[in-house]
Amino acid sequence: MNRTTNILLIEDDKSICSFITTALSGNGYHITSAYTGKEGLSLASTDLPDIILLDLGLPDIDGCQVLKQMRDWSDIPIIVISARVNEDDKVLALDFGADDYVTKPFGPAELMARIRTCLRRRHFSASGRSYSASGLEIDFDKHMVLLDGNEVHLTQIEYQLLSLLAEQSGRVLTYGYIMNAIWGPYMDSNNQILRVNMANIRRKIEKNPARPQYVFTEIGIGYRMRENESN
Ligand code: CA
Repeated sequence: MNRTTNILLIEDDKSICSFITTALSGNGYHITSAYTGKEGLSLASTDLPDIILLDLGLPDIDGCQVLKQMRDWSDIPIIVISARVNEDDKVLALDFGADDYVTKPFGPAELMARIRTCLRRRHFSASGRSYSASGLEIDFDKHMVLLDGNEVHLTQIEYQLLSLLAEQSGRVLTYGYIMNAIWGPYMDSNNQILRVNMANIRRKIEKNPARPQYVFTEIGIGYRMRENESN
């Protein structure tokens, strides 16, 4: 039952490779390393790992290009490892289909938490027709939102926005992705309408909208909804 999880690590920095390999193999994961984008792409197609950790700064191909090529044929969960402080790179990586990211330097506990969340989400993504976390419940079939058992009245747009985040809970959705999903590609790219709707949602569901418990802001990137606990 407890099959070993196979991880493909694509990272050219050997000291980071050995740090990650030591940390993860001590916790029962099996790691295969690739030091270039090319090698990583080829190992991904032959080994079919359960999850890929991908550095964005690779010597041969840019990590975002690796991601893009990978997504042409595969749905394998990918966590981007980024040394870059530039938020645009993270946004680009997420928009190219990365599941999550960690920023260097990071500790083994943080990395393992991200891996577990990523794998869990993949296992449950097909089953959940409801969302539930700490007093907030969403029934996607009935289009109903309950907070501590009381119905929350949301506008059509607010409901769409909240359910989009809830259906992919635990995952960062970029502003661009959300804008496109809710308002379509022709909407002005300024995020004001999104911020206004999010502020309204928070007023309705958060006990303290300034310190949200359900929908978190990833500054400069997007929003991440608290993980679904209903499974
Ligand atoms: Ca690198």
